[in-house]
Amino acid sequence: MKHILPDLSFKYNELEPYIDAKTMEIHHTKHHQGYINNYVKALKNNQELLDMDVEKVLRQIDNVPDNIRQAVINNGGGYYNHRLFWTILSQKKSEMSQELLDDLVDTFGSLENFKNEFSNAAAKRFGSGWAWLLVNDKKELVVTSTANQDTPFELGNPILALDVWEHAYYLNYQNRRPEYIENYWHVVNWEEVSRLYKETK
Ligand code: MN
Repeated sequence: MKHILPDLSFKYNELEPYIDAKTMEIHHTKHHQGYINNYVKALKNNQELLDMDVEKVLRQIDNVPDNIRQAVINNGGGYYNHRLFWTILSQKKSEMSQELLDDLVDTFGSLENFKNEFSNAAAKRFGSGWAWLLVNDKKELVVTSTANQDTPFELGNPILALDVWEHAYYLNYQNRRPEYIENYWHVVNWEEVSRLYKETK
C-alpha cells in the first residue's frame, strides 16, 4: 500500500492564534512526512508489512523483526500518532456527544476535572511524548501519557491525543508548554472525538 502524508481538513493558519501557521506547516510537511519516509525506509525489505496499514503493524508489533522493531515503533508511531492528531484538531467550534460528556463526568467527576487530569498528564510528561484519552478493554475512559512516539494500544484505544514534543509548540510558545496545553482545548474537534468514542462501544 502507499504511505502518503494525509491532507489536513483545515489550512495551516486556521488554528491561529492557538497553533500558529508556521508550526503547523513544519509539523505536517517536515515532521510527519519525515516519520512516514523513515517508516517506509525501515520496512524496505519487508513487503508484507509495507502492504499493511501502519496501525495494524503497530498493534502486532511482536511480528516485526527484531532488527527493525525499534525503528518501526519510533517512525511508525510518529506516522500513526500524527495522522490521528490532525483529525482531532479543528478550527470550528464543535460539541461533544451527550454520551461522551456523561461518561467523562461519571469517570472524572466533572468535565473540568477531566481536562485538568489530561492537561496534567501532558504537562508532566518528561521530555517528548503524547497525552491520551483512551478507552480500555473494560470500556473505561483513562487518561495517560506515553514517551517519544510510543502508541498507547497496550492500554486502550485512543480517542483524544495531544503532541507535547517541543516541535509542536516551540516557535510560538518556547518553553511555555502549559500555555500550549491550555490553548489546545480551543481547537479540539469534539465531533471527531465523540465519533471515535462511539466506535469503541
Ligand atoms: Mn509532532
